[in-house]
Amino acid sequence: MTGPILGIDIGGTKLAVGVATPDGRLLSDRRQPSGAADGPDAMIARVVAMARAAVADAGLTLAEIEAVGIGCGGPLDPWRGVVLNALNNPGWIDVPLVARIEAELGRPAHLDNDANAAALGEHRFGAGRDTADMVYLTISTGVGGGLILARRLYHGTNGNAGELGHISVRAHGGRPCHCGSIGCIEAYCSGTNIAERFREALATGATTGIDRDPAAITAEDVAAAVHEGDPLASSIWAETMELLGGGIVSIIHAFNPQLVVLGGGVTRAGDLLFGPVRRVVSERAMPWLAEPVRIVPAELGEMTGVLGAVAVALERIGDRDEKEAMASG
Ligand SMILES: [Zn+2]
Repeated sequence: MTGPILGIDIGGTKLAVGVATPDGRLLSDRRQPSGAADGPDAMIARVVAMARAAVADAGLTLAEIEAVGIGCGGPLDPWRGVVLNALNNPGWIDVPLVARIEAELGRPAHLDNDANAAALGEHRFGAGRDTADMVYLTISTGVGGGLILARRLYHGTNGNAGELGHISVRAHGGRPCHCGSIGCIEAYCSGTNIAERFREALATGATTGIDRDPAAITAEDVAAAVHEGDPLASSIWAETMELLGGGIVSIIHAFNPQLVVLGGGVTRAGDLLFGPVRRVVSERAMPWLAEPVRIVPAELGEMTGVLGAVAVALERIGDRDEKEAMASG
């Protein structure tokens, strides 16, 4: 019987820490701004203090915590527990995060990148319960992904599989992406890039009914303007959905999932996003791959960070128990 799990989510803007039961019931939940500019030592000290408080909030002691799960921006080495170079958190280079957390809290800890953690969370507690093959995409400041194949998180050779936001949807003449490639899904469809493309269109003389300083326009403003019938917003949104849908067609062709779960801030656009994406998939995916797949919203919302981290720990505990059973059986 697995005991309660402490989940730690280290993001570029927000830290979230909480305790949950193995069936995903949250016993406590604390958040605060990351203060990422302060660097890794200060951020680790912050999450350790939050962790102690979250355990006390849950009416527990650290000794009663079965394990600690951690989600953090990558790239990272999930097996050594080392953050190699968190792109959104300055100074996080070769940080032995698992060793640091284990030394502070005295409990076994497990690390994965935030998108993989969210995929595990949706698979165990959210929209993907009881599915064998599920793809998760988060469309937010960036576009991240995670692959659940045959009920397991797929890590690839060195733990970095599932960078689905960096599938190229316009390789020839496409927008350069910060990852080094060209025309990535992220370079068009992240919230940041939707707003950026809108500003670029304004700079070339296009006009809009959005009455805001262009520098402050967000993807949410663009989506709201589509509802108002703004022609520029509608045209940029339509292009975004063609490219996102096309990327998801490629993902479906590669993995033949039964479920594609879409999360992250941009998916709050609701039908404005799911409608065109489902249409592109039904028009362009091979019929025998399009037929069994459902494309649905993520369910964990604000709880994604903590419950995803909890799911990371539960996945590793499951792996360990399975290995032990095989060794003794
Ligand atoms: Zn890229």
